[in-house]
Amino acid sequence: MPNTKQINELRVILLDRKEKLLKSILGSRENIDLLKDQDIKDDLDYAEVVSDSFTEGMIANHHAKELAEIELSLKKIEDRSYGICDMCGVVIPLGRLKAKPYAKYCTECRTVFEAEEAKSK
Ligand SMILES: [Zn+2]
Repeated sequence: MPNTKQINELRVILLDRKEKLLKSILGSRENIDLLKDQDIKDDLDYAEVVSDSFTEGMIANHHAKELAEIELSLKKIEDRSYGICDMCGVVIPLGRLKAKPYAKYCTECRTVFEAEEAKSK
C-alpha cells in the first residue's frame, strides 16, 4: 500500500487534474455554443462546424469519463480502499499510480480488461 505521504501526493495530482478537466469540459461546452452561433454560409461551412463540434463533444465525453474515474479514486482515498486492483485485489504498484493516479486495475488486469474490451467491439 502507498503510505500516507504518497497518497497525499497522489491526491494532490488527482485534485489538480480534476480542476483542469472541469475547466476543459466547461470550456468545450462554450466552444460548441460559439460554433453553433457562427454564421453558416453554405453546406461546406456547416459540415465544418458539425465536425468541429463533434470532435469537441468527443473530447468532452472522454474528459467527463476521466473525471468520473478521478472522483471514484478520491472517494477510495477517503475510505482507504485506494490503490487496490478492482479485479484481483492486489496492491497496484506505486509507479503505476504515479503514471495514472486513477488506475482501477493492476497492470495484468488492465491487459486482460483491454483484451476483453477489444473483443467485445
Ligand atoms: Zn489486478
